[in-house]
Amino acid sequence: MEDIQEFLDNKVKKGRMETISLSPGGREVKAVFYGQAEPHLKGAANFNSALGARNPEAYYKRGNRHRERPVLTLIAGIHGQEMECMVGAISLLSIIEEGKDITGRKQDELRRELEGLRLIVVPLANPDGRARVPYDGWVGLPPQEMVKYGQGTYKNGELIGYPVCKTIHPMQGNIGILGGYYDDRGINIMHDEWSSPMSDTTKALLEIIRVEGPDLVINMHGHGEDPSILPVNYVPMSVKLKSQNLANEFYSRIKEKGYQTRELSFVRQESPDDPPNSLNFTSFAYHTGAGISITYESPHGFPPCSYIKMQYDYKDIIDIQHILFDVSCKFLKKN
Ligand SMILES: [Zn+2]
Repeated sequence: MEDIQEFLDNKVKKGRMETISLSPGGREVKAVFYGQAEPHLKGAANFNSALGARNPEAYYKRGNRHRERPVLTLIAGIHGQEMECMVGAISLLSIIEEGKDITGRKQDELRRELEGLRLIVVPLANPDGRARVPYDGWVGLPPQEMVKYGQGTYKNGELIGYPVCKTIHPMQGNIGILGGYYDDRGINIMHDEWSSPMSDTTKALLEIIRVEGPDLVINMHGHGEDPSILPVNYVPMSVKLKSQNLANEFYSRIKEKGYQTRELSFVRQESPDDPPNSLNFTSFAYHTGAGISITYESPHGFPPCSYIKMQYDYKDIIDIQHILFDVSCKFLKKN
């Protein structure tokens, strides 16, 4: 967390930095803005009302800026133990600010592409959660260690685990270690209360989306599996298909580099026996005003097993994110 802060304090010169909220633990959540905003394209209606009018342009004339200056919002670190994408977000900032990624390699093409965007980056949305995790990465560590500090433990030391960690929200009460998933009040931004958000950071993130009307929101996470872009629930079929196209382009690019994928269909037929899906932050970002909104899951770098096809090291983890940024820029320019 100190490294992120130091980068933001000392290296961000071209971007405009803003503190968007204060966490329950008193930590500042920062966003960095690049490129010209185009508020004159904003219509007279909120997104929901514009759809009611059957005219999305009443919310934002996104068609007028497509290809010219698309808007990308990148949010990392909603879950404090998923530091892979916090590092990826800082690498992206480093590419714009210094032309080099966080490993010191020049990235001229990606920098040119990023400079063609209106870009908003939130590198660490949940600093409270990050502050509680005593590791800087998970490569080579046993998965249970991530579960211990990610989803946390009960008072008796028993691991809470996933997805049981979502059965108590806010996560308070019989808690030994409060997991990095949560802020200091036990709130998991992915599943905040949309009718009345509990977290000021949730409100601030949604406000950025409402005001900017981004063409694409990438909600950056990490998991103990191969790289994946998760299906988004409760969005129109046209949005699912567009998101699927983006995911397919990403998968084909990383497979060319020899990486594995976890590919899930965005248009899977639901069975009447399936439990209902949740409307999470990524879905709600669409309903607030994002053109499309995806959840990216980076590998943590755990050893291969029945459901992890290969070992990823830190260089792989960051390179795969650079490919995601490149694919996203190209996708925004042509869609
Ligand atoms: Zn996550």
